[in-house]
Amino acid sequence: MTKNHEKLGVFSRMVHAGAFDDPLGAVNVPIYQSSTFAFRSADHGAALFDGKEEGYIYTRIGNPTIRCFENCVASLENGARGIATSSGLGAVTTVYLALLGQGEHLVSTASVYGPSRSVVEKHLSRFGVKATFVDTSNLHELEAAITPNTRLVYVESPSNPSMQVTDIAAAARIAHDRGCLLAVDNTFASPYLQRPLDLGADISLHSVTKFLNGHADVVGGMIVTKDLELHAKLRSVMVAFGCNMDPHQAYLALRGVKTLGLRIDRAQQSAMTVATWLEAHPKVEWVRYVGLPSHPQHQLASKQMLGFGSMISFELRGGLNAGKKVMDSVQLATLAVSLGGVESLIEHPASMTHAGMSRENRLAAGITDGLVRYSVGIENVEDIIADLNQALDKA
Ligand SMILES: *Cc1c(COP(=O)(O)O)cnc(C)c1O
Repeated sequence: MTKNHEKLGVFSRMVHAGAFDDPLGAVNVPIYQSSTFAFRSADHGAALFDGKEEGYIYTRIGNPTIRCFENCVASLENGARGIATSSGLGAVTTVYLALLGQGEHLVSTASVYGPSRSVVEKHLSRFGVKATFVDTSNLHELEAAITPNTRLVYVESPSNPSMQVTDIAAAARIAHDRGCLLAVDNTFASPYLQRPLDLGADISLHSVTKFLNGHADVVGGMIVTKDLELHAKLRSVMVAFGCNMDPHQAYLALRGVKTLGLRIDRAQQSAMTVATWLEAHPKVEWVRYVGLPSHPQHQLASKQMLGFGSMISFELRGGLNAGKKVMDSVQLATLAVSLGGVESLIEHPASMTHAGMSRENRLAAGITDGLVRYSVGIENVEDIIADLNQALDKA
């Protein structure tokens, strides 16, 4: 039995949504580490396969621990149902494979997460899928890119790592006017700070690896919709292509999501302090943080998001060489890809997360050679700044 959580506040939902009453009174959702589930009878098995009865058959199709995590995130997104996947990219490709066929067209954010773009250019192109990548923060560019064959508009906001913000409500109107669906990669904001489905998007998806889990110990993904038919279509593709989450992954992610709001509240408060400090530093050329008034879409972000998050991009006056020196000199922050965890991470998109893109495409997406990305963790902000300060001294 699923507890009624619709009237609960968001912090209460993080802790309780999706949980069911365990017959033995377990306070936490157990890990149902079982690949398959016994049927009571031949008729029961047939009824489950036929969809006439609710229940569990096989973990690729569904599992109680995974279902609990799906229901929890669906609740946080104000959606109806969720689909947990083996990775964030599993969520991205499930959306593509469900909604794009031969000769059909995708319009997407140019500065989207690198592999979300390269999988289209390198692999879906082999199956005749067409795509145009534009600056979706410019709604004219977005609208002009839509063709009669466009089925899906895909937006990442804020985008990784250029921190561009797309007007989700306007993008939804444009997409729907032209008969397309809108999917939003909500990884950078998390459902605590942004609810794309409430703004009109059809799909909100996540790399669970980042903020939702938050402890750099799980790779996972999630797709949430309000529409049950769309959910069923996406789920059937996830099951067919076999990119399900594992029960143990779901257990860890459920544990992580309980503190999502607490972690983000602290990290984004520090991020504002760090971004302001960086912007005033003589060795820093520019800082891109959606919470700073200098961010080109700061007003839009204030309207569409419930907070500014903890992701900062910046470039030093000394460009790439100075940036490398900083990355090699930090001691508290870890030089590693990924983001949204309790620990501060620093990385260089042009040679790491976005190395799969051509330099021309990178520059067009606002990813300069010297751009450094910093994911602010929950350490003491004085320690984060002292660490960056000593690293900047060496640059
Ligand atoms: C990390 C990330 C992904 C991919 O997620 P994985 O869990 O690494 O597969 C997709 N979108 C964004 C914005 C990301 O940061």
